[in-house]
Amino acid sequence: MKKIAILGSTGSVGRQTLDVIRNHPDQFRVVGLACYHQSEVIREQIKEFKPEIVSIVEKDGEKAILDVAVWPSVDLVVVSVVGMAGLLPTLAAIKAGKEVALATKEVMVSGGDLVKKEAKKAGVNLIPIDSEHSAIFQCLQGENIERIKKIYLTCSGGPFRGKTKKDLIAVSAKQALKHPNWKMGQKITIDSATLMNKGLELIEAMQFFDLKFEQIEVVVHPQSIIHSMVEFVDGNIMAQLGPHDMRLPIQYSLNYPQRISNNFPKLNFSQIKQLTFEKPDRETFISLRLAEEAARQGGTLPCVLNASNEIAVNAFLKGKIKFLEIPEIIEKVMKKHQKEQVKSLNQLLEIDLWARKEAELLT
Ligand code: MG
Repeated sequence: MKKIAILGSTGSVGRQTLDVIRNHPDQFRVVGLACYHQSEVIREQIKEFKPEIVSIVEKDGEKAILDVAVWPSVDLVVVSVVGMAGLLPTLAAIKAGKEVALATKEVMVSGGDLVKKEAKKAGVNLIPIDSEHSAIFQCLQGENIERIKKIYLTCSGGPFRGKTKKDLIAVSAKQALKHPNWKMGQKITIDSATLMNKGLELIEAMQFFDLKFEQIEVVVHPQSIIHSMVEFVDGNIMAQLGPHDMRLPIQYSLNYPQRISNNFPKLNFSQIKQLTFEKPDRETFISLRLAEEAARQGGTLPCVLNASNEIAVNAFLKGKIKFLEIPEIIEKVMKKHQKEQVKSLNQLLEIDLWARKEAELLT
């Protein structure tokens, strides 16, 4: 019986993780839950799963999440809080020797260098939940990571695929929140509309699989059936396919390396009919270009990209800025930053805070 803690249990991935556990009561037990803000959802979760520890974070109570991350009886921690807030609990869980299933890509984008170092030191497994990274991870089982030639990171194109910059001048948050394939939280859905999500995933993939920027190619695949592909040095390509259902990569991460059956919907190829591919439009979706620049340069630049994006997306959701201002703000903050090598957690937290303040001034 694997004992699980979920950080961010009321969010989209958190709720789907609980659904996986609900479907496999003989395999998993929930021992810890953490979330932001009191709600009916968390009350129901506590009633149903009877965890040993619960943290509900109101203002400035972030430390409470750490208590759940390091709770003694926990075997595996699912990190699915939104954004950079996931970094400290991820590091705490790793240092406490817990396995970590990571859904929060911002953790690897901003703090990947530190997270990998600590995971290696503690000898713990770090398993991706993000569907693309789960796909790559699955394609790499039994393979030598050094024999990867390149990764094809697939991208749905988001709700505005095929649009021009002019079309996007007046889009509202409501329009941007309508993703064609995936049901997700607000932050990641806006990131999918700007293609920043793919940019963050590119950096996440470089970190997770020790790849160079040149080894990753973003491919728009509107059907979102192939979740990513790995090309090896001999020209053979492995792909992982599946329905648009985050419960699949979540379940894989909880029980890695074992596979267990489930009653989730399966693919039906006679309904899909075709799989298509195209190049991303970097003229319209500037955020992807900015993320690629941060990926190429590395160091503290991805942290700045991520922090300013978090602020800009939040301002867009609140109606304070327009859709096309999101990448403008990120670019301005990136230009102001003097890149450094990542040396410590304090340095990263300081730079993250600086970038947030700079971005805030522009909203
Ligand atoms: Mg993804």
